[in-house]
Amino acid sequence: MGIVVQKFGGSSTGPKDRRLHVQKHIIDAKNLGYDCVVVVSAMGRAGDPYATDTLRSLVVCDSKYNSARELDLLMSCGETIAASVIAQELTNAGYQARAFTGGQAGVITDHNFGSARIIEVKPEKIKNALASGFIPVIAGFQGLTPDGEVTTLGRGAGDISAVAVGVALGAKMVEIYTDVDGIMTADPRIEPHAQRLHTATYKEIVEMAHLGAKVIHPRAMEIAMEGRISIRIRATGSDSPGTLVQASPGSPKEISDRTVTGIAHVCGMAQVQLEVSEDCLQSNLPLVVFEKLADSGISLDMIYVSPEKIAFIIEERWITETEILLKEFPIGVCIQQKVAKVSAVGAGMRGVPGVMAQVVKALQGAGVPILQTTDSHANISCLVREEHIKPAVRALHAQFELDRLDNSRE
Ligand code: ADP
Ligand code: MG
Repeated sequence: MGIVVQKFGGSSTGPKDRRLHVQKHIIDAKNLGYDCVVVVSAMGRAGDPYATDTLRSLVVCDSKYNSARELDLLMSCGETIAASVIAQELTNAGYQARAFTGGQAGVITDHNFGSARIIEVKPEKIKNALASGFIPVIAGFQGLTPDGEVTTLGRGAGDISAVAVGVALGAKMVEIYTDVDGIMTADPRIEPHAQRLHTATYKEIVEMAHLGAKVIHPRAMEIAMEGRISIRIRATGSDSPGTLVQASPGSPKEISDRTVTGIAHVCGMAQVQLEVSEDCLQSNLPLVVFEKLADSGISLDMIYVSPEKIAFIIEERWITETEILLKEFPIGVCIQQKVAKVSAVGAGMRGVPGVMAQVVKALQGAGVPILQTTDSHANISCLVREEHIKPAVRALHAQFELDRLDNSRE
């Protein structure tokens, strides 16, 4: 039958009763004749004893006091604990299982502590375990540098581990189990009428994930797309088939991409506006500003440059550093905190007239002021105040009729 990789997020590995569902999914796949490889995240959410955020809070939060190497060693413990517990519980239930750290599973990364990138996966130990009849249970989110340093791959990166391992093993499918019923037309915590996407293309989900749909990590989707591996995102607590993302979608209706697939959003951003004179713009000042920010590892989004103004958004955690950096320049700086980006996403919106008009109509109708916009061939994004994110998501969702039970989502 081949190999299936099953990844279980923190919401699935935390509570004991949830872990029974985890076991059931593993055993069901085994009974179907698959070789199962399990990848797990740390157990629970912030506040739970072994959750990543809880471990992180054991040390001072100010980055200048932290050693990135030690922080990674600390944060990697959550997944190692989860892998050991799940493997032990499988063994207790009568199934042979073996726990592996990311390094033991052959996940080799660069030295970029905190957001390391996988260089390669050497899955020999996993293959050997499978050949000996064991269910390998791998700690996600972590890897090892070629010289043996433990690294972590960044927030939500258990998904990346699972897909990278799946590609390296030539698996038939990677299943991402989480606390929602698949990829929905919007975050169901914000839009109760959100509908499950039964199938979707890589392009659609890469875009949704990049624009904030945190149900799947964007890098995981990119690796899946490169490796042409099928991904199913589904709920741990049910038998619903969830969302199938694959290279050649089963239904002919999927061949033409939808104009709007879903609404994504991301909160916790800050808008930076720089008042610049024309002299400044003609000098190389904008270039120097952008280079300075880049050198400090601050990534910018929604960048806008005009003769009078430069504007962009940053994550809120970068505000202080950005303020300090910009003080050096002879420019007016205005930073607006608590803003959010809401996006209408659809790989098929290129060349379709009137999508922007619909976005503006929806937000205006909901009384949501638009602070800034950007667009690409596959999305239109608007910056709004964080307090408006719910009405904004809901208005766009209704405008594009995403709450209708539509055959195209079958
Ligand atoms: P896990 O711990 O299992 O990795 P995450 O918290 O990373 O789970 O991802 C699941 C969450 O993603 C859901 O609880 C949901 O609130 C959020 N989410 C955001 N956008 C979407 C979307 N379009 N579809 C489904 N879930 C979404
Ligand atoms: Mg996740």
